[in-house]
Amino acid sequence: MFEIIDIINQELSSLRSKGNYRHFLHQVKDDDGNPFIKYNKDGTWVKAVNYCSNDYLSMSNHPYVIEAFTRSSKIYGVSSGGTRNISGTTEAHISLEKTLSQWHEKEAALLFGSAYIANLATLQTLGRRIPELIFFSDEKNHASLIEGMRSAGNKKIVFKHNDIHDLEEKLSNADPLAPKLVIFESIYSMNGHVAPAAEILKLAQEYKAMTYVDEVHAVGMYGAKNAGYCFNDPTAIKPDIINGTLSKAIGTFGGYIASSAEVVDFVRSFGSGFIFTTSLPPAVCSAAEASIELLQKDKERVYKMKTLVHLFRKLLTEEGIPFTFNQSHITPIKVGNPEKCKAIADRLLHDFGIYIQPINYPTVPLGEECLRVIITSAHNEDQIYHLVQSLKKCIRG
Ligand code: PLP
Repeated sequence: MFEIIDIINQELSSLRSKGNYRHFLHQVKDDDGNPFIKYNKDGTWVKAVNYCSNDYLSMSNHPYVIEAFTRSSKIYGVSSGGTRNISGTTEAHISLEKTLSQWHEKEAALLFGSAYIANLATLQTLGRRIPELIFFSDEKNHASLIEGMRSAGNKKIVFKHNDIHDLEEKLSNADPLAPKLVIFESIYSMNGHVAPAAEILKLAQEYKAMTYVDEVHAVGMYGAKNAGYCFNDPTAIKPDIINGTLSKAIGTFGGYIASSAEVVDFVRSFGSGFIFTTSLPPAVCSAAEASIELLQKDKERVYKMKTLVHLFRKLLTEEGIPFTFNQSHITPIKVGNPEKCKAIADRLLHDFGIYIQPINYPTVPLGEECLRVIITSAHNEDQIYHLVQSLKKCIRG
């Protein structure tokens, strides 16, 4: 026992000495739902504007969503009280799954405690039940996708990030008779890269591979009815399995997959991470459904968020501050050194009232440390001007 504690302490000290130890600040919101961070500065609590919230459209504060949550919690209470199989399925779950399947133009959908669990449980179930299945995985895939494949133990072939030619070479070298699943994200969370989704989906079809797309950072903000990046082009081939979250643009909590009736029934029937855990609180499902109802027709919030992102990047360019350009709403500013990254973030926080979480290893590879800036629809133009001027002072020293 003592040895275990010694190892734990050594690992934690090593994390601290490399500048990679994680500190959590408290998030608060003002009456209009604007995201702030509260932190202790010399004994007093002060506020800073939050530029790393994934509540991209501020739906977590929308009165209609809160009202749906309140109404539902008065009917069901604040917990489902069981697993889906043992009294944890309510009308709110069924109704949300129907809405999700229709939104993503699929036959069915299945809810999970988070998108992380949805990825883990779905890939694990497919892999374990179909041992000859080969995974083809983009090298930058999220930890939850990697963990799902790893825990299944199937053959995994990693293709170069967003590289359609490398994927083709790898698909063409694989056993033509083996079942295949191509797994990628439509928008990569840390670098904001957008996948050549239409090309990958077409290629997979040519090689008779099924496709699994993590749309966590796209649902609610891209494509027709804001259903995700894969819905940008109505004529493009659609993924076989879509993974999404209810916890980012939708502003509530939970995750899901949407797919054919058979795939959903298969994961529902065999997925350990679906079966043996308490289902989402029904009120959360009702809130998510209310949010999706609004987002399906939203133009205003998405437009405001994207317009502010555009302004931010224009000002960065004018000030000569380099950033990783991409087609998404995520703007990484590469620093490339964990101590420097943390020092810039600390100065932004203490001197300028700006909170940007430094992104260090293991979230990104060593040398890729960055400030990942998230502009939401709750920010305003004045804040963006202040942000760029502050970044200029902190980065240039
Ligand atoms: N997939 C990707 C690409 C993510 O970035 C994240 C979380 O940030 C997840 C899945 C997990 O989503 P959730 O927060 O719903 O578990």
